Amino acid sequence: MSKRDYYEVLGVSKNASESEIKKAYRKKAMKFHPDRNEEDPEAEKKFKEASEAYEVLSDEQKRQRYDQFGHRGVNNGANGFGGRGGAGFDNFEDIFSQFSDIFGSEFGGGGRSRRRRSSGRKGSDMKLRIDLELEEIAFGTEKKLKVKKYITCDECDGTGAETKNDFETCSTCSGTGEVRQVRKTMLGQMVNVQPCPECNGEGRIIRNKCSKCSGEGRYKGKETVKVNVPSGVSEGNYITLRGKGNAGKRGGEAGALVVLIEEKEHEHFERDGNDIYYDLVLSVPDAILGTEVKVPTLKGKAKIKVEEGVQPGKLLRMSDKGIHGLKRSGIGDQYVRVNVYIPDDLDEEERKHIESLRGSERFNASNKEDDGKGFFSKIRDVFA
Ligand SMILES: [Zn+2]
Ligand SMILES: [Zn+2]
Repeated sequence: MSKRDYYEVLGVSKNASESEIKKAYRKKAMKFHPDRNEEDPEAEKKFKEASEAYEVLSDEQKRQRYDQFGHRGVNNGANGFGGRGGAGFDNFEDIFSQFSDIFGSEFGGGGRSRRRRSSGRKGSDMKLRIDLELEEIAFGTEKKLKVKKYITCDECDGTGAETKNDFETCSTCSGTGEVRQVRKTMLGQMVNVQPCPECNGEGRIIRNKCSKCSGEGRYKGKETVKVNVPSGVSEGNYITLRGKGNAGKRGGEAGALVVLIEEKEHEHFERDGNDIYYDLVLSVPDAILGTEVKVPTLKGKAKIKVEEGVQPGKLLRMSDKGIHGLKRSGIGDQYVRVNVYIPDDLDEEERKHIESLRGSERFNASNKEDDGKGFFSKIRDVFA
């Protein structure tokens, strides 16, 4: 999960004054101070979060950078090359909120941010689009994606050191990975625990860096990632694969790979939810006399009977030939929409046949009486 907005953390507006920020922080700090909330581990987290926010927002320069660049502007965090994973994704974050993670909170964003104290730094998240055929969407599919990303170095197992013995304990933090700062504040003495700057919180320093990854514990490579796409997804859905994004530095937790679903246009079908529509074009004789035709479905061709006298626009339903819906929303139907082809290049013979029918009462709609079962009510049925 991404970091919360600092203004949000303190509960102040973007143009809050210095004293408003101070006041807001003071309130949060009082509430969540670890000394007052010994039983609640969440409080400590919130306290740290508020302190971090205050540290940035109370410093004019840092605040300016934060306003301009967000968290990136104030954390010299590692920015992997993950962002480039999906081309043309520049506005992704903006539109992201409109999409729904199809797995909801199960795998999605709603999870707890259980931050393991691992030695390395967490790898960045990546985004990728996949184009799916309607057939793949209809029944679900497994895709194998070749992903360019940071991969944990297999030579050093992600440690970044040439051999196991190439570590030495960091002298700055004596191997704890943390440095404590005691500060006097308006709340009295406060202990601020921060990652050791010397060893980046790792507690140890590498004497001899791994030659394959130059001590990073990861390198740029390609990995095949399998993603199971459930049936019934639609454009804009996404699937979050935890731990499948960029590997972290020196054994740090890998980021997530977010797979955004796109639907390819189908040559035959239009989709409406779980239903699909197919345009069938009949000849005039077939429409008048009735016929049996083969139409494409999502699973190959299937026969369908057309009753004699079928009207253009009529929808013929093929039950359960549609899309298998997401989350047990049922199976859709296929609708076959009847169209009639009117030729415009008759030869002499054909012209004579049709000409002879011009006078026929049965071929003339204006002679039909609308008795509730007649022609006009049939037309109404078609378009109802
Ligand atoms: Zn290595
Ligand atoms: Zn250290």
